[in-house]
Amino acid sequence: MRLSRFHLVTVKEVPADAEIASHRLMLRTGMIRKLAAGLYTWSPLGLRVLSKVETVVREEMNRAGALEVLMPSIQPKELWEETERWEKFGGQLLKITDRKGAEYCYGPTHEEVITDFARNELKSYKQLPVNFYQIQTKFRDEIRPRFGVMRAREFLMKDAYSFHLDTECLAREYHSMYDTYGRIFTRLGLRFRAVQADTGAIGGNASHEFQVLADSGEDAIAFSDASDYAANVEMAEALAPTVQRPAPSATLERVVTPQQKTIDEVSAFLDVNPAQCVKTILVRGREGLVALCVRGDHEINEVKAARLAELPGESVLADETAIVQVTGTRPGFIGPVGLPDSVPVIVDHSAAVIADFVCGGNLDGTHYRGANWERDARITHMADLRKVVEGDPSPDGHGTLKIARGIEVGHVFQLGPKYAQAMGASVLDAAGKAVQMQMGCYGIGVSRIVAAAIEQNHDAAGIIWPEPMAPWRVVICPINAAQNAQVREEAEKLYEELSARGVEVLLDDRGLRPGPMFADMELIGIPHRIVVSERGLTAGTFEYRRRHESTNQAIGRDQLSKLFA
Ligand code: ATP
Ligand code: MG
Repeated sequence: MRLSRFHLVTVKEVPADAEIASHRLMLRTGMIRKLAAGLYTWSPLGLRVLSKVETVVREEMNRAGALEVLMPSIQPKELWEETERWEKFGGQLLKITDRKGAEYCYGPTHEEVITDFARNELKSYKQLPVNFYQIQTKFRDEIRPRFGVMRAREFLMKDAYSFHLDTECLAREYHSMYDTYGRIFTRLGLRFRAVQADTGAIGGNASHEFQVLADSGEDAIAFSDASDYAANVEMAEALAPTVQRPAPSATLERVVTPQQKTIDEVSAFLDVNPAQCVKTILVRGREGLVALCVRGDHEINEVKAARLAELPGESVLADETAIVQVTGTRPGFIGPVGLPDSVPVIVDHSAAVIADFVCGGNLDGTHYRGANWERDARITHMADLRKVVEGDPSPDGHGTLKIARGIEVGHVFQLGPKYAQAMGASVLDAAGKAVQMQMGCYGIGVSRIVAAAIEQNHDAAGIIWPEPMAPWRVVICPINAAQNAQVREEAEKLYEELSARGVEVLLDDRGLRPGPMFADMELIGIPHRIVVSERGLTAGTFEYRRRHESTNQAIGRDQLSKLFA
């Protein structure tokens, strides 16, 4: 590509809401332009990168035997009523009405549509297993669209859905997709980890997320320093301590803490370690309020809490009115000592083994010191309620946990019979009996990958593309070409030669001075740069530099040819 014929518009200033590097760099390079909140146009430069990701995803899905389809973005309400998701999906679902008053949504995902396709198309076990996928635009009305295409409202997803006669077959396809995802992210040149993930409302079955490692990631992942255990922190199990709870040695004493509500405030005020405090929150239970207790230095894990039998499937903080009504106390001063009998007290394993602790006094402006379980406070039962922290033992028994940040770029899921059941999708087995199909689903955030790759690969000058995603592999920068015919001719010759060999090469023939030209090429992150200058030509060399290196090499034409063989 000759840059003079391309559309490249780089900018220095970006809006203040571009908080993370990838968002800033995608705007500065002009890869994307914002249309409205969470809606972006991909420019020719951006689309070159997006298409590369798409190609790798498509090639590997095809290689794994999945079959490409293309479903409509707009989906009828009736299908979503069959699975009861028209209401349950919540505010993310963009609902649309046509001129006849019929209701639709813009697809945030396609389980309903594919299951409808499958129940009509698949009649016999002989057609199974089968895995259908598409690469298509989704819309989710995210509460907080942010970070550019990382959390957009309209975005490009690869979604695949597999159908099986039994769970063994589903498990085999799941593993095949797991391996396929590994190949995709490896081919794209990303550093990633597959981590065990929460299965959410669907429950029970296996699920893994693929996380690109980057400090700005929204997800926290826990991994062992001694084994391949890795899980989303939402999911990572905190092992119960093996120590026994010490016997009480202090007497229970109420202390006045007029303004101190948080653990930090209370522990500083009373000069105790937060690990010697018990933090209590009240959540809405199936019947009335439920108290959840963790150690002061730990945090409640809402995903784990939501699984408690006492809770209605989600963990929602009780509102202040309800708290005051039941306990007579405002939030900030709640503790397990003296709570009404109607409130179950569920205690995290780590909080259950401390003695002589500090906790809320169940009286405004007070806390207790020297509190002890059983003697002063009931334990209805113990549970794993907290988020793991760095240094916790790994749940697989090998090593200790470390915590890293990640960006979720893919998710594989054994759905089981959920959608087939709700929508009546069955096939006849070998004995002629109707059997409900087992389903798997497998998503990749194609557009999010572009942002994630930048998040992981950039420096102060701009993007450093992993080669497989770069818009071009090589850029040729002629210096002073307008004044120097030989420079011009050599640059052209090199450009033609590399192009003829199928190398994706960009010729910067805009006639810019070296400074701005190099700055643009570093900003857009081209992996290899070849400078053609009068000085070099006199010496019989080109100046060559890789994007992630800071020094030039003078290399001859033969060597250059070998580099891009
Ligand atoms: P998240 O937890 O980030 O909201 P999700 O669990 O809702 O993701 P899935 O429903 O599993 O995501 O969708 C499959 C993939 O689509 C995700 O792994 C992610 O890479 C991508 N994705 C999801 N939401 C968005 C979004 N708002 N913008 C861009 N990509 C997205
Ligand atoms: Mg989401």
